[in-house]
Amino acid sequence: MSTFLDDGLARNFLAGAWVDGDGGRTIAVEDPGTGAHFADAAQAGEATLAKALEAARASFDRGDLADMKPGDRGRLMLRIAREIRLIAAEGADALCRESGKSLSAAHDEFEEAAQYFEYYGGVADKIEGKSIPLGPDYADFTVFEPYGVSAQVVPWNFPVSIAARSLAPSMAAGNSTIIKSPELDPIALAMLGQALERAEVPAGAVSILNGIGADLGARLVASSDVDQIVFTGSVPTGQAILHAAAETVTPSLMELGGKSAAVVFEDADLDGLMRSLQSGIFYNAGQVCSAMARVLVHRSIYQEVVERAAALANGLSVGHGLDNPEHTPVVSALQLSRVEALTQTAQQDGARVAAGGARLEREGYFMAPTILADVDPGARVAQQEIFGPVTCLTPFDTEAEAIAMANGTEFGLVAGVFTRDLARSHRVARKLRAGQVFVNEWFAGGISTPFGGVGKSGFGREKGLEALYNYVRTKNIAISLKG
Ligand code: NAD
Repeated sequence: MSTFLDDGLARNFLAGAWVDGDGGRTIAVEDPGTGAHFADAAQAGEATLAKALEAARASFDRGDLADMKPGDRGRLMLRIAREIRLIAAEGADALCRESGKSLSAAHDEFEEAAQYFEYYGGVADKIEGKSIPLGPDYADFTVFEPYGVSAQVVPWNFPVSIAARSLAPSMAAGNSTIIKSPELDPIALAMLGQALERAEVPAGAVSILNGIGADLGARLVASSDVDQIVFTGSVPTGQAILHAAAETVTPSLMELGGKSAAVVFEDADLDGLMRSLQSGIFYNAGQVCSAMARVLVHRSIYQEVVERAAALANGLSVGHGLDNPEHTPVVSALQLSRVEALTQTAQQDGARVAAGGARLEREGYFMAPTILADVDPGARVAQQEIFGPVTCLTPFDTEAEAIAMANGTEFGLVAGVFTRDLARSHRVARKLRAGQVFVNEWFAGGISTPFGGVGKSGFGREKGLEALYNYVRTKNIAISLKG
């Protein structure tokens, strides 16, 4: 067993070394399953950030990754994947305790992180430009170049897999990367640094810093030493970061929130829908950007779906993540208050609570699995992201009405269609305003399928080959052959 948390402190991974926080400051991390203190993270501030920026720039200028043979860079990334699997058991235990998620979900995160390094490691030597015909007097070709220093700010709902989702293509392209971990659950992500260290990633090519968003995060994204910003998180923070990026004219990738809808037609397989509903809104206690936050159901099957959804919610096993229950706590006391408060506006806005509706009276931060029925599409719960185990059911009569409702928020991250009619599934999928559409299975797809939003869900795409092109810029080289 590693001694990583032997003194209960997760340090910053900087230039290949483990460093304490500025002035010895620390961030206390809780176990949301009990509310008790779990561990501490060394809190980086201005001084540590300056060192990380310097190390990242020096590594980039030396060409540590960018000038490495692409195939060797790919093999380095495959070593990282192997090392991630070696720390996965210990890492998942820490992730479960600090985030509240189930142990199996925490394992899934480490496995997914390993797969990102395999996927992008495999394409590191396939980032090919093209030649452009200009006639016999010229040779013209494009090359893809890394940006330089990529600043990546990560949210708390999937800290390890989301960090890997951006770090892996960033490395494959040859950038240096600085990751700002989420303050609520930074421990498992710091452990990812162990995998990087053991895989012998060049010092400075990747740093992982623990810090507070308004302090370290804001300083990082405002720095003129950063060449690219990758942000995954809430809309207000994304907007603040875009303001900072405007000052330095720094290209940015925004993966923001959602209020995604499933459209369920009268011929849908309802057993399959219930499986999708369980993962879609109760996995990770609904703290998923692409959660099934709304379910629009054809009126002819609406009552049946409401009853089955309520029975599903009421029947979920509840417990501490370490016991692998079906329902786990939300990440913090503050998050629980936010989720409960927004949920409680539902009745004022005319909805009916078919299951749950309030916190569970038990140790830890548990919101009851909640099904809200007869939700007006304009109600607060149908428009704002709740980011908890709460979904909103609304009946519809026609396909056109369902599409209008599904598209009727300021978000557009994912959407779903449940029908056995192939032609209808294609037709509706094309009309839905979302970056990704699931047909008959919520979360269908994986690390190789492009993911990202429209509207206030953000811009740019992560996952798949598509994501690679967020981490490079095109240079055209035109050569005159005259004379
Ligand atoms: P958040 O915006 O509060 O925080 C995200 C990160 O930003 C944290 O690391 C935080 O410390 C940092 N931060 C906060 N203020 C900052 C600032 N001024 N400058 C720079 N960094 C700052 O979001 P959250 O509560 O951690 O995550 C939940 C949100 O993330 C939800 O809205 C969810 O939908 C969204 N999300 C989106 C995706 C996606 O891929 N589209 C994935 C996961 C989560």
